Amino acid sequence: MSFLQLENLSKHYGDFTAVEQLNLTVEKGEFVSLLGPSGCGKTTTLQMIAGFVEASAGRVLLDGRDITHEKPNRRGLGIVFQSYALFPHMTVSANVGFGLEMRRMAADECTERVRKALALVHLKKFSHRYPRELSGGQRQRVALARALVIEPPVLLLDEPMSNLDAKLREDMQVELREIQRKVGTTTIMVTHDQSEALSMSDRVVVMDAGRAIQIAKPFDAYESPVNQFVSQFVGKANLFEGEVASVSRQGSALNVHGHLLNTNDASLHIGEQVTLCLRPEKLERCSPQDEIIRGRVRSGVFLGNQWLYHIDTGLGDLLATWQNCGNAACCDGQEVSLRWPTDALHIVKRGQHEVRH
Ligand code: ATP
Repeated sequence: MSFLQLENLSKHYGDFTAVEQLNLTVEKGEFVSLLGPSGCGKTTTLQMIAGFVEASAGRVLLDGRDITHEKPNRRGLGIVFQSYALFPHMTVSANVGFGLEMRRMAADECTERVRKALALVHLKKFSHRYPRELSGGQRQRVALARALVIEPPVLLLDEPMSNLDAKLREDMQVELREIQRKVGTTTIMVTHDQSEALSMSDRVVVMDAGRAIQIAKPFDAYESPVNQFVSQFVGKANLFEGEVASVSRQGSALNVHGHLLNTNDASLHIGEQVTLCLRPEKLERCSPQDEIIRGRVRSGVFLGNQWLYHIDTGLGDLLATWQNCGNAACCDGQEVSLRWPTDALHIVKRGQHEVRH
């Protein structure tokens, strides 16, 4: 039995389905992200777990207990909202201790727990300040301390870093994950930022139009996306449409605009129409005799740690990312020979509605 289980969880608003038959099991201590474009149902799912939105169908089980129809305060989950929702007229300490007072905890224990929670988020020195006297990052940490101080069985984070600037956001991603590991609280985070989800989570739930499309470890979602939607939402992808020209025990050859490309996938059928995914970092420059395809550089952008190129080829416009080009960076209009390892070419499904765990 998993610690948190969503069983066929659905939410309908009249004719509109915001979340459709979502199934998810989360183990104790796991960090799972709900990732997807705006409006795909992430927040609605989180709110159903929290109890702020009533599920239309399905169940939420916490440690085996059916909490689907329990009031939010009875569930006792820790929640950090996008807006932080701190009380402006209360000090940092009072904000963090509020949930404990509501639970009528003895004053001594309350003080001790608040002290520990503030130490955890590195805010001990700020206990007497008011929210308006804090930076965005500090407010975010107060909200986190307030959620963790009640020692919730599950921590729910709704886009907790969306109000922070890029640098602070990166720092907080690392810090939040470190804190979560230290306290071991089972955590569900909503985000539409794929790099945030990939870097912080044990598993990601990639959602589209109310459905979970793929539930996987970040590496697997990136390396083996189940369909076109996931391949494009999780990282950058070169996609080609092709037809299977031949199949052997070792793999298949696919015809893409008259070019034959080899894959390791031997499960295909001659004549089948497929979509292929090739990640930009898998493309290598090579000598003309080793090339799979030749192209002409249309544009290149320097990104600090790597170059991102658009290259016109017989397969279409290909994206390539290369590191350490240094002075060997390509110029616009330059001809390049390209190759990639055979196992870098993945077949992805075109449909969007099959879930793979
Ligand atoms: P975002 O990243 O923009 O916050 P999201 O993935 O969290 O998006 P939700 O807030 O879960 O999306 O909304 C999912 C869908 O349900 C949206 O199309 C939204 O308009 C719709 N929706 C949410 N709440 C209601 C409501 N109370 N009544 C009707 N439709 C709603």
